[in-house]
Amino acid sequence: MNKAIVTGGSGFIGSNLVNFLIKKKFFVINIDKLTYSSNRYNAQSKKNYKFYKVDICNKNRLIKIIKKHRPKVIFNLAAETHVDRSIDDPKKFINTNIFGVYNILEAIRLLKKNNINLKLVHVSTDEVYGDIKNKLRSNEKYKYEPSSPYSATKAGADHLVKSYIRTYKINAVISNCCNNYGPYQFPEKLIPKMISNLFENKKLPIYAKGKNSREWLHVDDHCEALLTIFKKGKSGESYNVGSGINMENINLIKKIIKIFIEKKINIGKNSKIVFVKDRPGHDFRYALNSKKIFKKLKWKPKITLNEGLSNTISWYLDNKKFLKNISNKLYEKRLGLKL
Ligand code: NAD
Repeated sequence: MNKAIVTGGSGFIGSNLVNFLIKKKFFVINIDKLTYSSNRYNAQSKKNYKFYKVDICNKNRLIKIIKKHRPKVIFNLAAETHVDRSIDDPKKFINTNIFGVYNILEAIRLLKKNNINLKLVHVSTDEVYGDIKNKLRSNEKYKYEPSSPYSATKAGADHLVKSYIRTYKINAVISNCCNNYGPYQFPEKLIPKMISNLFENKKLPIYAKGKNSREWLHVDDHCEALLTIFKKGKSGESYNVGSGINMENINLIKKIIKIFIEKKINIGKNSKIVFVKDRPGHDFRYALNSKKIFKKLKWKPKITLNEGLSNTISWYLDNKKFLKNISNKLYEKRLGLKL
């Protein structure tokens, strides 16, 4: 049986990846520190699954877990992920997103000396490329120009991974993915926040005039891409993982409202779009050129934005306890304005 470690397996993408890999007959070891953005569903026992509440900054624990389970792969998704929080408190981001990745790399390097070899699939973001001008799309050779403390730590980690591949010859690949959406996402992020506020008859706040543009991929497509990158990705390579579907935030919210109406979900009279102060340093547009993974690894997204959004809204409707179990205090207050 294939064994995989997923770090951050209790977060949004991690939860979906754990479930996906178990379905694909993997034994999955989830290493997660359980920060505010994690959910407890994956801490429960499942078949072919083991959970460790461990910080990726603890190298000795990582080494012990790897030695015990001898996985073929580590998918690294453990991270601090909210840009606004990174503006208020960059230190946590530097710690987990850089020092944590350094620890994973060190564990792999040290175990390699004892002939324990495994592949690292390091999960990164399109935000490392910074603002992308209209009509352009960044390919894997595009310069790194991160704008926020979050994206700077992700960029730093990517460079560190590349340096370990070249210097210590570890087996690793990087995926740079666009914005994900789907089940289990913490409601401080745009799509679940809008869905949650619509359920609760609250205002729908959008930064600036809502013209910022993001590329959207359903998390199930991302999980397929990560498995493909593990199986076929060449060590030392980076792969952009995108849908090619960009949308301005304002149009995305309008689309969500339209789906609510089509599904006949009641929308309260307070749930109106309101424009709020922009995020400092806010990137205007991200857009990936993902031809490399399409051509070389034969991965392509399967879920359209309409279908994916519709399924996502249905999931939050059918799983209202997911949002209910998260205290409003953790995501309602506007963050990222303390300069
Ligand atoms: P998330 O915030 O939902 O989950 C992160 C998980 O990591 C949480 O369960 C948290 O407890 C865990 N974690 C944090 N610090 C840890 C530490 N020191 N040790 C162990 N566990 C720790 O994030 P997500 O949206 O699922 O993102 C996962 C990864 O994918 C991140 O690396 C992120 O940069 C990347 N990514 C996300 C998106 C997106 O749209 N969500 C897009 C591209 C890339």
